[in-house]
Amino acid sequence: MLTVCNYHYIRQNFSFKYPSIFGVTPDEFDYQLQQLKNIGDYISPSDLLEDTQTILKSDDNYLLVTFDDGLKEQFDIALPILQAKSIPAIFFVNTINHIESKVSTVHKIHLLRSILSPEEMSSKINSNTTVTLTQEDKTIARATYRFDNTSTAELKFLLNFKIPFQEQELLINNMFTNYFNENEVVKHLYMSEEDLIQLSKLNFLGSHTHSHYPLGLLDENVIYKELELSKQYLESLTNMPINFVSYPYGSPQACTEEVFLQTKKADYSIGFTTTTGVNKEADNILSLKRYDCNDLPGGKNYKYK
Ligand SMILES: [Zn+2]
Repeated sequence: MLTVCNYHYIRQNFSFKYPSIFGVTPDEFDYQLQQLKNIGDYISPSDLLEDTQTILKSDDNYLLVTFDDGLKEQFDIALPILQAKSIPAIFFVNTINHIESKVSTVHKIHLLRSILSPEEMSSKINSNTTVTLTQEDKTIARATYRFDNTSTAELKFLLNFKIPFQEQELLINNMFTNYFNENEVVKHLYMSEEDLIQLSKLNFLGSHTHSHYPLGLLDENVIYKELELSKQYLESLTNMPINFVSYPYGSPQACTEEVFLQTKKADYSIGFTTTTGVNKEADNILSLKRYDCNDLPGGKNYKYK
């Protein structure tokens, strides 16, 4: 069986004016790697690719460490900690950050929310969209984001469920350019091409698609392009095959049967969602489950069962 542990931000300091960026510190990461060792054996992406069926069907628990979003801090902070312990991993990157030198919309939202209060952010968004929340929406918003205060819950619901995502992208981009220099953010937030080449030499590189869109909401030809463009770019940059993909957001809505079909067509071998669970059977290896690091031993939400 295979247990996959996924990380995003890894940095020393998460204190912002408004908390919007969450992740693990280097010490927490180091600690969790030790804890996980008690429940299984770490494997490399190449091991998984070569022996997928054997690993999934085995009674032994195998562990794979993954990182989404191609963040520079993952290369600078997490990779040395992994290498000191000889633990392999795979880093899934978006190619829009490289080919177009753009910041992914998901990160633009994180950054805007770190400097604007939920109220400020909502009022700016509301004045630029005709989409509004009904009383019923507000009730659902509070239930969906029950750990957030009312303004944050409503803001997240409006962005994630009510505003069509192409409109959201435009709106967020206009706000973002008022506060941030996109080129500077790209340089500091994401890995460099040299970093990607280093990762590929270790066989640690995978695709997180081109633009970080929720693939399941797109037309089939756009889904294919998102998958194919990033594979092609990474392969020509590194001269190595890209066999692994992790789907942005990874939810059932983002990972439909059509998405798996296009992933196969784009010639990927293994794909990861964010549906949680241990992988035991191999019915569809383009749809492997993953845990958020917080939900596994050593993580913030983990309670010993
Ligand atoms: Zn992502």
